[in-house]
Amino acid sequence: MARYTGPKCKLCRRDGSKLFLKGVRCETAKCPIEKRSRPPGMHGYSRGRPSPYQVRLRATQKVKRYYGVFEKQFRRYFDVATRQSGNTGENLLTLLERRLDSVLRSVGYASSLAEARQLINHGHFQVNRRKQDIPSYIVQEGDMIRPKPQDEVLESVRQCRESRGHPRPEWLEVNDADLSVRVLRLPVGEEVGVEVDDGLVVEYCSR
Ligand code: SF4
Repeated sequence: MARYTGPKCKLCRRDGSKLFLKGVRCETAKCPIEKRSRPPGMHGYSRGRPSPYQVRLRATQKVKRYYGVFEKQFRRYFDVATRQSGNTGENLLTLLERRLDSVLRSVGYASSLAEARQLINHGHFQVNRRKQDIPSYIVQEGDMIRPKPQDEVLESVRQCRESRGHPRPEWLEVNDADLSVRVLRLPVGEEVGVEVDDGLVVEYCSR
């Protein structure tokens, strides 16, 4: 699976908002967005007013970076979202929010998407009692996600969740005793983690 290995904070500075790509560091005063949120590069401040195309591009890039997907994969999600009934932008964002790596980040089992992917890739999680090592797995209503019983990472997952204040997204039910997560229902538009105008993303992808 391809992954971005370049400087992460630059991506946030380019978008002018926190994308939480570096885990614990993102919550501290060391976050460059807290210190200087100007875009990267020596001409960061002097780019003038963005064109409508740039505004749509930035919104789309923000979504791709927040969920860690590249263009080809993103297009596939967009195609699926257009075939679903309802608002395409909302369909797209909720589809991305349902990725297994995103779910683990949402419930605080990992401090960043990269950490969530590593946990999944290393086979530490099961979905419906079967090992699931594909971070892009799309969770369904009724799915039961849990760390492997007697797994050595259980304690670190528990500590990570504690440090993140036991987040409880309304569409998921987290059992703090055994750290299992049940998908109560599919997420709706306002429950996605990224703040973006989905209309701009749809306009960009439909051009
Ligand atoms: Fe983004 Fe985190 Fe870097 Fe802050 S510390 S700029 S939120 S990746």
